[in-house]
Amino acid sequence: SYDVHIIGGGLAGSEAAWQLARRGVRVRLSEMRGGGDMTPAHQGSGLAELVCSNSFRSDDDEKNAVGLLHHEMRQLDSLIMRAGEIARVPAGSAMAVDREAFSAEVEKALDQHPNVEVVRERIDALPASGPTIVATGPLTAAALAESIVAATGQDRLAFFDAIAPIVHFDSIDMEVCWMQSRWNKVDPSGGDGRDYINCPMTREQYLAFHQGLLDGEKGSFKEWEANTPYFDGCMPIEVMAERGVDTLRFGPMKPVGLDNPHDTTPEFPQGRWPYAVVQLRQDNKLGTLWNMVGFQTKLKHAEQVRLFRTIPGLENAEFARLGGLHRNTFLNSPTLLDRQLRLREAPHIRFAGQITGCEGYVESAAVGLLAGMMAAHEVTGAEWTAPPATSAMGALLAHITGDAEAESYQPMNVNFGLFPPLHDIGKKQRKEAYTGRAKADFGAWLAALDRVPA
Ligand code: FAD
Repeated sequence: SYDVHIIGGGLAGSEAAWQLARRGVRVRLSEMRGGGDMTPAHQGSGLAELVCSNSFRSDDDEKNAVGLLHHEMRQLDSLIMRAGEIARVPAGSAMAVDREAFSAEVEKALDQHPNVEVVRERIDALPASGPTIVATGPLTAAALAESIVAATGQDRLAFFDAIAPIVHFDSIDMEVCWMQSRWNKVDPSGGDGRDYINCPMTREQYLAFHQGLLDGEKGSFKEWEANTPYFDGCMPIEVMAERGVDTLRFGPMKPVGLDNPHDTTPEFPQGRWPYAVVQLRQDNKLGTLWNMVGFQTKLKHAEQVRLFRTIPGLENAEFARLGGLHRNTFLNSPTLLDRQLRLREAPHIRFAGQITGCEGYVESAAVGLLAGMMAAHEVTGAEWTAPPATSAMGALLAHITGDAEAESYQPMNVNFGLFPPLHDIGKKQRKEAYTGRAKADFGAWLAALDRVPA
């Protein structure tokens, strides 16, 4: 018998199980691999298998948001960080692990824990009752995915991501760009007709950019990603470019109704329409992040940075996320989940890991850690307070559970753009200022929370 059922023994599910078990809560951890099933990306049956790279990225907790996340997870006795430390291999300022040793450590810790029962079984439907954590990841098995769709609604669970690049607001040159909605249209939910940032292009700039899209080096689809109905709604920008030189200018780069105030003439005192535009739309409530509308792409990352910095106004753009297209099962969490990662319509079900729309090994484990802590508090009747929004865990959680723009919601790594902004601090000192504030606030939160002896 058990108190909480966790479905999926990946990064998030394993961490959640650990956090529950060490708080005295009994867990059933259902993992389909090792029970006759496999995902298209996993190789074996080990818990917390790393499907691709062996890196947890930067371990610098003074200048880097994912390094800060490492720091916070270590303070919460994260199993993923603990096993990562044991399996660590040299990688400069990054944290990399021996993947076999890492998975073996996670599995050993859970197998040996008296409060955890690991069961090799596939779950095909959301349980009708009982505290549950669903952590089945970007490659959730089909039957369970259908059951999730039935609970959330058809268009609330995506099977692919279509990621357009996201730019930090303070790296956009507003001497070149301007804010305006097409035809000054006012959003019915409010606004002032200035909802978009517009980057103007001349004919020469547009033609060079179009050629750059055609020539740019692209990533390929994996075999199991090909032949998908993917392109219906979200065609990659370079595929659109291939359709003809004007396709983009009549599509996402359409300039009509956009008066460039930096280009006025007596005839057009409000400003002329440029030849083409790139539009950016606000991506989070803080207004620190803006996504490039319609710019989902398979271009290689380095190529994206090079080409997108040729766009007028984006010469110094800093990207919080670059574009991509992958198979990826994830919820529209901002609309579906409450602040405790529970499905609003069925609050006995929590979600954790990449299926919530975070991105990355460490982020997935961090959301698993939070889900485990939340469930433990719920089951034991203890009061839960969320980590502060100024911390890496708090910022990630706030983004997933409501601060992100629901309409353009796509998977996201942790980054300082998710943190409440510190505009008054010079750019050079800003990263340290974010981590300094985070550590102080996180420390205070942790001290106030019921601590469990390690
Ligand atoms: P997972 O680690 O995938 O765990 C989910 C588990 O649930 C799996 O073990 C699966 O077998 C199990 N499961 C699924 N359905 C069921 C079911 N119905 N019943 C029981 N069990 C089930 N992130 C990085 O940081 N670096 C990378 O290099 C990287 N590369 C990636 C490459 C690919 C191909 C993919 C798809 C993702 C990659 N990611 C990467 C993104 C992400 O960090 C990982 O997918 C990460 O493993 C997500 O953690 P998770 O716990 O949410 O899901």
